[in-house]
Amino acid sequence: MTDNLRELVIAGSGVAGLSTAVYAARADLNPVVLEGDEPGGQLTLTTEVENYLGFPEGIGGMDLVQRGRKQAEQFGAEFRRAGIESPDLDSRPFELSLSNDETIRTRALVVATGASARWVGADKEDELMGYGLSTCATCDGAFHRGDDVLVVGGGDSAMEEAAFLARFASSVTVVHRRDELGASEILTQRVFDHEDVEIRWNTELVRLRGSQQDGVTGAKLVSHPDGYPAEKYEDGESVEVETVDVGGVFYAVGHVPNTDFLRETPVELDTDGHIVTGGDTGTTVDGVFAAGDVMDSRYQQAITAAGTGSMAALDAEAWLETRQLAAPNPQ
Ligand code: NDP
Repeated sequence: MTDNLRELVIAGSGVAGLSTAVYAARADLNPVVLEGDEPGGQLTLTTEVENYLGFPEGIGGMDLVQRGRKQAEQFGAEFRRAGIESPDLDSRPFELSLSNDETIRTRALVVATGASARWVGADKEDELMGYGLSTCATCDGAFHRGDDVLVVGGGDSAMEEAAFLARFASSVTVVHRRDELGASEILTQRVFDHEDVEIRWNTELVRLRGSQQDGVTGAKLVSHPDGYPAEKYEDGESVEVETVDVGGVFYAVGHVPNTDFLRETPVELDTDGHIVTGGDTGTTVDGVFAAGDVMDSRYQQAITAAGTGSMAALDAEAWLETRQLAAPNPQ
């Protein structure tokens, strides 16, 4: 226990947390940003961001995040390499036990912990993640020069990863569980235009082959003309089964919000684990606000995360102000 009392703690250092930090620091709230396990968040795993307003030539994801951090630090935000392990949100001020064994007390909290890559649930994925199986083509694509690789998924991430991997791999096969992509037109067209990328429709990956020593060497795929073949396979329905030789597999099947640390708290989560907010960024706990992918299952864009980040800072600032007016010396 320390006497480390702050006005505002921001959990998460992705674009949402950074935007909160810029606004809060400019409002003299002296925010502490807890960087968490993945400093900079998901943007650090992206190559080029082409649709962030103000960068007509595009900007690298890492570059955007580093600029955001510099901007926040310039106004006085403080960064700590830790995440929240166990929050006591019933006490006032809140008491947060951190992963670096520190305890920090704060009057207000903005949760901007983002989301992490979802896994498919194929056999052997636990063993092979990081050994030829990856959730980040930008990070690991270059290890697959000359390989045949699979990308699992049918959204924008899958299209982006497939186009990126085609630079290194000998062939890229996108494995999608339905016969229709959810990706945007522009990214889909880039994949369709690429002669080394093929799409396997109505197909799912159910098992990986390989070892930590040899990496991924193959994948078992199931197909069914009506889609969602893995479910049908598990139910014992007849599906087409094929084992293919591949040197790498990339998952691009969406994300799950990072809210496990809130499960025992009164902060309400929806069935997918996203934080429930009302008309603003306030949560079901007075003084706790949420921003970015952790509360947004719909838009999930860098620019919307930055937008909700600034909203959370403004909401927290207004909330702190009303409390101080109501109780001049709050403890
Ligand atoms: P999405 O949720 O959009 O897509 C996930 C894909 O994975 C879907 O095709 C889904 O299939 C499939 N899927 C989900 N679970 C499984 C499973 N268990 N097994 C097999 N397939 C599965 O996630 P993305 O990461 O692609 O995109 C997230 C957000 O980020 C979107 O808003 C997107 O627009 C944005 N984005 C934008 C980019 C850009 O503009 N440059 C780049 C990347 C992302 P189904 O369709 O059947 O549900």
